[in-house]
Amino acid sequence: MDSESIWQKIARLWRGASAAPSQPVSERAARLASVYGVHAVGPETQAAARPWREGELALLEDTLRQLGPRFYEPFRSHPLRVWLDTAHGEGGFGHGWLRIGDPGRDTSVLYRIFLHEATHASNEYRGWPYEKLFCTRPGFDWRLVDGEWRHPRQQGRLPRPGAWETLPVDSRDVSTNPAEDLAEMVRYFVHSVRDERAWLWPLDQSQPATYLWDTSPTRFIFVRDYFLGLEPDHPWYRRLDEHVEERVRRALFED
Ligand SMILES: [Zn+2]
Repeated sequence: MDSESIWQKIARLWRGASAAPSQPVSERAARLASVYGVHAVGPETQAAARPWREGELALLEDTLRQLGPRFYEPFRSHPLRVWLDTAHGEGGFGHGWLRIGDPGRDTSVLYRIFLHEATHASNEYRGWPYEKLFCTRPGFDWRLVDGEWRHPRQQGRLPRPGAWETLPVDSRDVSTNPAEDLAEMVRYFVHSVRDERAWLWPLDQSQPATYLWDTSPTRFIFVRDYFLGLEPDHPWYRRLDEHVEERVRRALFED
């Protein structure tokens, strides 16, 4: 029989666990926190989390750098905690925590969910400027009816005819509130300018990468000039036809 009692064993393991040096924070994780306000949280903070791989942290850093300071600035004063769940399945954002179901080795899943959920976070931390300022502007379709946001294509119903601009809304991309619309819009924007078809799933890959330019220039210019506020020297920056630019500028930023 083991000379050490089960209680002694537990006590030893417990001491060992608490005395163990905490996982050294990688340089990149430290930079993510200090530059972008994004804290990549591991199992030492969140019991259900799995540790981050260096390549995953690099993907977050690269994505945030390209989304730019208007997107991540709010996280610097109100940290965004991101963790990878040991359980699989999608992700979610709430109360400063962004959860991503274990993406396995598929970084495109991590990328897609991070882009979507971090857009919710940035929008919330900035006080929902999209909903407050733009949802009732031409080209955005959303209307507040009896205290509830309504959309002509909402919840699988067929679009009503009319002169509004549109994003494709199908069973995969259905927008049931303006915030979801914004999150998908940012994804369409990023991909329409970068042409990274590999990252596009589950958006409709049969559509050209420039889909947003044609279907909703208002949304394209809103993301470019307002939500991301990209400078003309940014690699994602594109200008549309000057007449379109002028029409949208008036619709969005005047009256
Ligand atoms: Zn969402």
